[in-house]
Amino acid sequence: MAAPEESVVHGSKAAPKDLPSIDKLLRLPLVAAQLAEHGHTLIANEARALLDGLRVRALAQDLNLAEVQPEPLQQALSTRVAARLRSNMRAVINLTGTVIHTNLGRALLADSALQQLLALMAGPNNLEYDLASGGRGDRDDLIEGLLCELTGAEAATVVNNNAAAVLLSIAALGRGKEVIVSRGELVEIGGAFRMPDVMASAGATLVEVGTTNRTHPRDYESAITPQTAMLMKVHTSNYVVQGFTAAVDEATLAPIAHAKGLPLVTDLGCGALVDLSQWGLPKEPLPQEMLAAGCDVVTFSGDKLLGGPQAGLIVGSRDYVQRIRKFPMKRALRMSKLPMAALEATLRLYLRPERLTQDLPTLRLLTRPLPDIEAQAQRLAPLVAQALAPRYTVSIKPMQGQIGSGSLPVERLQSAGLAITPVGTAKKGLGTALERLSTALRALPLPVIGRIAEDQLWLDLRCLEAAQEAGFTAQLAALAEALS
Ligand SMILES: *Cc1c(COP(=O)(O)O)cnc(C)c1O
Repeated sequence: MAAPEESVVHGSKAAPKDLPSIDKLLRLPLVAAQLAEHGHTLIANEARALLDGLRVRALAQDLNLAEVQPEPLQQALSTRVAARLRSNMRAVINLTGTVIHTNLGRALLADSALQQLLALMAGPNNLEYDLASGGRGDRDDLIEGLLCELTGAEAATVVNNNAAAVLLSIAALGRGKEVIVSRGELVEIGGAFRMPDVMASAGATLVEVGTTNRTHPRDYESAITPQTAMLMKVHTSNYVVQGFTAAVDEATLAPIAHAKGLPLVTDLGCGALVDLSQWGLPKEPLPQEMLAAGCDVVTFSGDKLLGGPQAGLIVGSRDYVQRIRKFPMKRALRMSKLPMAALEATLRLYLRPERLTQDLPTLRLLTRPLPDIEAQAQRLAPLVAQALAPRYTVSIKPMQGQIGSGSLPVERLQSAGLAITPVGTAKKGLGTALERLSTALRALPLPVIGRIAEDQLWLDLRCLEAAQEAGFTAQLAALAEALS
């Protein structure tokens, strides 16, 4: 190792022989402390990788003598170790204006759900154990009563996500037979979830009826054959067909199905359990309404409007839910104890509907009063402006957010936020200046995700709650630094 002399000239080059041996590096005081904390394997691996990299640079005459002194070496190693231990999955600040953002993890869990996870996951629990009898239990028993109470269903079961719920329901009730769906409802949800493909994966034959814009009761009636297993409705959650349209609602379709002894299955998607219109939000159909209209099976997501963990909920009549539960594929799609604990806690919040807009983060964000968001914009604008000056200016702007996750796609949430404009940049340089800013925001310790629109970077503040606001403002100095 080069002697840590004061006389080391900054800029003079290091040769490979100036690098310390791995043993010497591991004996440096700060490194020894890291060894004690993390053990030999990680620290030695990172030390070796660090030295290998430095050696390559030394051979290329690209390494300064100053960099191989004990202090910078210890620093470089501890930076490497910290980077290895930092998880890939990180908290971010969602300023996109989309509340249930699929790419950002969808619904935020409620405090009570988090507490359940902490209380239950470190030790054994009664996931499949009947505490009353001391015998084997069924994990469905943990939530079935609650789900039935909340939706009016006779029976309920849960799987990994709603895609699994749909796949399983079709497979259990329609495998080897025909399933009738309107052409107006052959949706693609994103990713690879397209209704015709799901039908094929489940081993059922899709029978399309009606047209893209209009489907009538007689279309379903005349498509029913001895091969028909079920009629299916799919909630077109992420698009709307407008104009000259007709669809057959569940209340009309149920008697048509039942007259032939067939079930009516509805994939509801979003799965709000309460009527959102009581808070001035657009109304989504509720599972309880679908069941009351005569549907035999209704499936919906746990992490969309319901506000819980990823889950697929299946509610309906006893016989059909029992067939679904007993179908072998259920075992492959079953929910793990983690989301199960969070789901039960989330569902219990619905027993206190008056408190939902406080206790359930999804509803809290969706119902956040506009004046609140505007006041926050007033508060933050000068701070952000100061951090971004002189390259960018900041203005307060009304914004239109979205519920997200395909729910109510054409409805907008009136919101407010900061619109950031590059200063003195010609039109063609705007894109680069905005990209630079959004990259810097994403590179912060708590990455900030906004969106670029109309030659500005928009930060919609609806989802910036108090706890995160502190985290946001605390890193404005780092943002200014990164941009300077
Ligand atoms: C979101 C959605 C799904 C998929 O649900 P996941 O919980 O994401 O698997 C299926 N059908 C509809 C109508 C949806 O909106």
